Amino acid sequence: MDHVPTPESASGPLQEAETRFRVAFEEAGVGMAIVGLDGKLLRVNRELAHLLGIDEETLLAGRGILAVSHPDDAGARADDFTRLASGAIDRYKRDRRYRRGDGTTLWGATTISLVRDADGAPLYAIGQLEDITARRAAEEAARRRAAQQDAVARLSQRAITEQDLDALARATVATITEALGVPLAGLATVSDGDDGDGLVHAAGARLDPAHARHTLSRRGPVVVPDTSTETRFDAADLIARGIASGIAVPVAGEGDAPHSVLGMYADEPCAFGDDDLAFLHSVANVLTGALRRLAAERSVRHQALHDPLTQLPNRALLLDRLRLALARHRRRAAGWVAVLYVDLDDFKGVNDSLGHGAGDTLLRALAPRLSEALRPSDTLARLAGDEFAVLCEGLDEVTESVAIAERLLDVISWPLDVAGVELRSSASVGIALAGPGAVIDAEDLVRDAGVAMYRAKRGGHGTYEIFDDHMRAETVERVALTHELRGAIEHGGLRLVYQPMIGFDARRATSFEALVRWTHPERGEIGPGRFIPLAEQHGLIEPLGRWVLHEALDQLRRWRDAGLPMGDMSMSVNVSRVQLSRPGLADEIFAALTERGLPAEQLVIEVTESAVMDDPAVANATLDALSAAGVRIALDDFGVGQSSLACLRDLPLDVLKLDRGFITSLAASRQAAAIVRAVCDMARALGFTVVAEGIETSMQADVVESLGCDVGQGFLYSHGVRPEEVPDAIATLDLRLGRPSSAQPVLGY
Ligand code: C2E
Ligand code: CA
Ligand code: CA
Repeated sequence: MDHVPTPESASGPLQEAETRFRVAFEEAGVGMAIVGLDGKLLRVNRELAHLLGIDEETLLAGRGILAVSHPDDAGARADDFTRLASGAIDRYKRDRRYRRGDGTTLWGATTISLVRDADGAPLYAIGQLEDITARRAAEEAARRRAAQQDAVARLSQRAITEQDLDALARATVATITEALGVPLAGLATVSDGDDGDGLVHAAGARLDPAHARHTLSRRGPVVVPDTSTETRFDAADLIARGIASGIAVPVAGEGDAPHSVLGMYADEPCAFGDDDLAFLHSVANVLTGALRRLAAERSVRHQALHDPLTQLPNRALLLDRLRLALARHRRRAAGWVAVLYVDLDDFKGVNDSLGHGAGDTLLRALAPRLSEALRPSDTLARLAGDEFAVLCEGLDEVTESVAIAERLLDVISWPLDVAGVELRSSASVGIALAGPGAVIDAEDLVRDAGVAMYRAKRGGHGTYEIFDDHMRAETVERVALTHELRGAIEHGGLRLVYQPMIGFDARRATSFEALVRWTHPERGEIGPGRFIPLAEQHGLIEPLGRWVLHEALDQLRRWRDAGLPMGDMSMSVNVSRVQLSRPGLADEIFAALTERGLPAEQLVIEVTESAVMDDPAVANATLDALSAAGVRIALDDFGVGQSSLACLRDLPLDVLKLDRGFITSLAASRQAAAIVRAVCDMARALGFTVVAEGIETSMQADVVESLGCDVGQGFLYSHGVRPEEVPDAIATLDLRLGRPSSAQPVLGY
């Protein structure tokens, strides 16, 4: 060991150098060693002994550098050192693991340098070791965290769309085992059992029930660093399974109650740190997010298929179930499917007298009553307002459906306390049946039941009616006609005719009423009395009404452009009750006038009294707006129904059209004449123009004129004629009424 720099072997300047070296060696902030070419430690400093937790003597007495090497690193280390000792390299730097005296691992950044003699032959090596354990641990933790974050992100991605909760549970457990390299992870769901603490294994390893229950009762994570010292719960089972440590966290569900417990276990103590707990929490949160999303989707689906007021199935769900029932039924040779359409009698009366709240209360109270009157396999649905429907499958006899209807009528008639008032309701029930082998659509069966219900309603309250062939034929006809009417509206199948109105003073036509006509390709002429109600019931009156308005105004524009006298007369257009009940009609009319550059004063809108009374608020607003803009309003069919003169004062009316019924009864009834005179007097006082409708004879014309009517309309003068016939009709009228056709036109009314 001549060349090993020890204090003993040095003298003179060399000794001085060696002393300096020794001090540097001993006091170095890093661990240092002098290593022989055979790998033996010849000298170590205090810091190295301190870092390794082994005293200097033991180190020097040991097997050398390999003795403190981590077994996993020993091979690579031996190779490196052999190359250095042979002089092939002068230096190497490596991060190595060492086994400390207490068995723990030390990470060291190691530099080994070769010292040669004057001839360049290897003498010994100097090793330096810097403790980088903390840095390596931080790096390792960061790597693990990144892997965990990545795993959570991937799981979240999946949880956004996954519909299958079991599959998501399995993916969750797999995420934990992969990202953490934990062999044992599991999920147990809280069962809805009565005791509430039952757990059902859902995925992965079986969770320890004692551990999981303790987690649920604490409503927070339970970290078990060492099962052998666990005191909060009985860890015997865990120990028996060879588990030394673990963590469990509760997984929050859609509401307050936890949905499940997520846990992981290891066979060594203290296997999990804070990061692992945070990771487990994140995974649990992903699961909670998915649970809440699935719950929200479920509730959206429920809402889409249920009535919010009564929570009963709605029309869509009823139709769905009916479709399935009919499909099943088709394959059977016997039995009946019945739909019962239940409509309360005078529900409007309850709403009007006691308020909508009471109406809602009544419906909510009736729903369970109706349910109880049915079999569990029947479906009770709320279709709309006060309309319910029942689907009954597997009836043996038609009479069973009647028995059900009677039961329903019975429970509906029981008294009910609504807002402190005892109510007795009644209903009308329509029954439609699909017999053995019947092929019928669900929609059609419900519609048939509705038709029968209307029939029952007409027959008196509190009864039922079964849909029959006669009703079917009528319905089929209506459906076909409605379909064809839609086609006629869309494809120019309608026409307008114009019936002149005669001003008695002017003795000439002063205005026209536009009347719609439909010539059916097969059925021929169909009167508006038939198809207007059809259009009103099936949502066609708005397109129809719009077409009539536009067409009549277009015609007026054409007459004006052609310089014809009709171009200056006024045009009456009929407006249906349905149109009048929709806000926006006034704006639509203004737009139609503006587009054609026509003055509002030339347009007269004809409405009936009952149409105004349907929804007085909307109707009045519309009429007020029209009137304010100069459009005139005519009250059509006056005298039909309970016309009250008093209510006329509140409407912005310009014209009163006396119903044809008055005119025809004039000859026979003195009373009719008296009424007409009274109406004319009052109308004059209010500034209205009075039109007599349906004048067929000159005697009628004379009478109404003498009674004070201003204008006459009827077949005596002219039928409604096609636009191209209008000029001739006017000329003929002028001749008959004794007016030269060149006379100045007068603005109507
Ligand atoms: P309305 O508004 O009372 O129209 C007058 C009806 O009496 C017309 O029948 C007309 O042809 C008929 N009429 C006119 N003078 C005489 C006569 O001297 N004797 C007889 N017996 N009848 C006469 P029409 O065209 O069949 O219309 C019936 C109803 O259909 C109309 O009654 C009106 O309520 C409705 N209507 C017609 N066109 C339209 C329209 O474009 N829109 C709307 N909503 N309803 C319309
Ligand atoms: Ca009319
Ligand atoms: Ca009329």
